[in-house]
Amino acid sequence: MKGVCPHCEEIRDIKIIKKIEKYVIRGLEIESEAEYSVCTVCGKDFATMDQMDITLTNGYNLYRKLENIISPSEIIAIREKYGASQKAFAKILDLGELTINSYEQGSLPSKSVSNLILLMDKPENFTELFEKNKHKLSLFQIKKIENSLSEQSVPLYQVDLDLMVEVQEKYTGYTRPDWEKYIALLQLILYSAREKLYKMALLKIAFYADFASFKNNVHSLTGWPYAAIDHGPVPEEWKTILYSAEEEKNLVSEPDEFEMGDLFYLPDNFDYQKTSAFFTENELELIIDVTGKLKNKSASELRELTHLEDAWIETAHASKIDYKHAVTLKMF
Ligand SMILES: [Zn+2]
Repeated sequence: MKGVCPHCEEIRDIKIIKKIEKYVIRGLEIESEAEYSVCTVCGKDFATMDQMDITLTNGYNLYRKLENIISPSEIIAIREKYGASQKAFAKILDLGELTINSYEQGSLPSKSVSNLILLMDKPENFTELFEKNKHKLSLFQIKKIENSLSEQSVPLYQVDLDLMVEVQEKYTGYTRPDWEKYIALLQLILYSAREKLYKMALLKIAFYADFASFKNNVHSLTGWPYAAIDHGPVPEEWKTILYSAEEEKNLVSEPDEFEMGDLFYLPDNFDYQKTSAFFTENELELIIDVTGKLKNKSASELRELTHLEDAWIETAHASKIDYKHAVTLKMF
């Protein structure tokens, strides 16, 4: 095997040897095997970066065994059992944001932190700290963890529908909000468009479909509430919707070459029969109609169109849009 000898400063034939060495880690003396390279020309030994890493890892592992400290893989297993991200797990445990990441990468937690994480293996312990600290977490993380805790066959990432129903009916268009139906709507818009759509275009077409349905039939398609932001109307929880739709392989996205934002399209296994069953024939026609009229508009054209609608004009910034504004919809 060849390697650069730091003593000769030349590429040399290298032999590998092992030595038993003593280290002091956190005040504890540890004897562990260390790997070294020996230059076959000058006969001196040295450790490469990789060898130093391995030696340190071996030392840490021995220390973990002796002191009963949790290992990186045990931390990952406990954290993933609850569907928690590294950041969320750290917040639940009252630790610094990046600490869990560093422990999972191999750095040594203190004995007390190690014990705390080991205690989290029991769901009742974890639940207690989760309840105490969940106000620090995103709604998405809370839902994900609650779903893991409940261990029911509910789909992951589901938004709390009871929360949505609390929203007055004027914001849902007299339809019970339906998460799966909303994702089905996004899929059918893409199916009707027969091309990739920018995120904002996809969400605005969904807005028009829901509001046009309310205008024609006095009920929205999906019951989903929309809020007015600078870009125009957007569905509540739109980040969670798109994230989960991608996680569950209902939608696919890619960045576009002009960096105008993500382009969304359907996965190869999209099932039209199954997806269209969420809607009536009339509703399917409406989705095709709305998509056909809007799919070729640019982002700024769509923005201008929605800015002409009472739904946007009459709604305070970042507030929910009353479906009554569907009656004066100009586009449909
Ligand atoms: Zn040498």
